[in-house]
Amino acid sequence: MRIVADHVYVNDDSGTVLSAGVVEVGAGLITAVEPIRGARPRGEGVIDLGESILMPGLVNAHAHTPMSLMRGVSEGHSLLTLEGWLGAIRSLEAHLTPELVPASVAVSCAEMIASGTTTFADQYFFAERYLPVIKDSGLRAAVAYGIVELGDDGARAAGLAAAGAFLEGAGDDPLVRGWIGPHAFFVDNQLEAIDAEIAMARHHDVGLHTHFGTSAEEEEACRRDYGRSALSMMQEIGLFDVPLLLAHCNAIARDELGLLAGTRATIVPAASVAMISGAAAPPVRQALDADVNVALGTDNWCGNNNADLFEEMRTLGKLAAFTARAPNPILPRELIGLATWRGHRALGASDDDGRLVDGAVADLLALPVAALHRGPVGAQDIASALVYGASGFASTEVMTAGRWLKRGGVLTTVDLAAARAQQQLDYDELMARVHAA
Ligand SMILES: [Zn+2]
Repeated sequence: MRIVADHVYVNDDSGTVLSAGVVEVGAGLITAVEPIRGARPRGEGVIDLGESILMPGLVNAHAHTPMSLMRGVSEGHSLLTLEGWLGAIRSLEAHLTPELVPASVAVSCAEMIASGTTTFADQYFFAERYLPVIKDSGLRAAVAYGIVELGDDGARAAGLAAAGAFLEGAGDDPLVRGWIGPHAFFVDNQLEAIDAEIAMARHHDVGLHTHFGTSAEEEEACRRDYGRSALSMMQEIGLFDVPLLLAHCNAIARDELGLLAGTRATIVPAASVAMISGAAAPPVRQALDADVNVALGTDNWCGNNNADLFEEMRTLGKLAAFTARAPNPILPRELIGLATWRGHRALGASDDDGRLVDGAVADLLALPVAALHRGPVGAQDIASALVYGASGFASTEVMTAGRWLKRGGVLTTVDLAAARAQQQLDYDELMARVHAA
């Protein structure tokens, strides 16, 4: 298949745009990317998207897909504090059972596809129950099995055994892999659990997906219990030697970012959630300058109403500028990097993935040029227009591993209307249980 578009955003370090260009796809990979000089290719196997921009699909490195079931319930609460989370979410989750989540996972997958996401990292309970929904969506995913043990020997043994069984059961699907999801280190996963989680990650060659620095909780716990900082503890026990997603990092120690430099750990800011919760801004510019990988996450559908990563890119760009009291501390080209190849790197893939180059995964999205709301040609470059002018929901084409998940503006793998209808029934059932308790 050869895909032609007026603009091809290669996503290299110099911001190359081919106008026009062609991307050739075969067996789930990109096999060639070339500028078009002269006549546009035609004929069998050629798909001409016309006045569109073709670019790599986006990577959401921190999501909790089942939580669209509870979208809206946490209005006015910060989910980044224990109190807010317990009151708004945990009180409902206590009544949640596995059969109430698959429809909401389908809704979340549909919204991610609709807005141009092609790969995501998930973390929640009941992952074994909803893994088939993610596989059916066609998305590429690392699905982490949630573990909370709170220092309880029985809960730890049960959580680790269940995570191990989940990893065995997830099999070796080329797109959807099992991961391990300790909810938060030191706070609800004690040292004994963390050691076992690292060993399990090494054994299965997968990564750990956790929350870190949503507040100063981990730092306070480590100073109190071990007399040292959280990051230095994490380094010593080997956490940075396996792929590690550290979601949020609002309160991460700025002067210790160097401990993460060049490691397999990735900081995953969730700017919308940080802002709506009134939390501190994560130090993204400082992390990039310290050679720390940074990816983007939308977090759950309760603390962030939607999973559009274009909105997340510009929210982070604005938050960073607002915090720095200076414009553009993170360039638009860099923000796109956070949402693409740096996300793939976070999940252990090659740095070519997330760029339009030979051999990279064929994960793509296309937007009509008009949807960029771009200034006159010459006044604004395409990276800036993508970050500050576009909505992911305006995408017309979305592809993961060479398969169309959205074609001509229509979702091809998820029946969103049916999933929404079932989600409403699931929510009504959940609330009936809450009110009966
Ligand atoms: Zn989260």
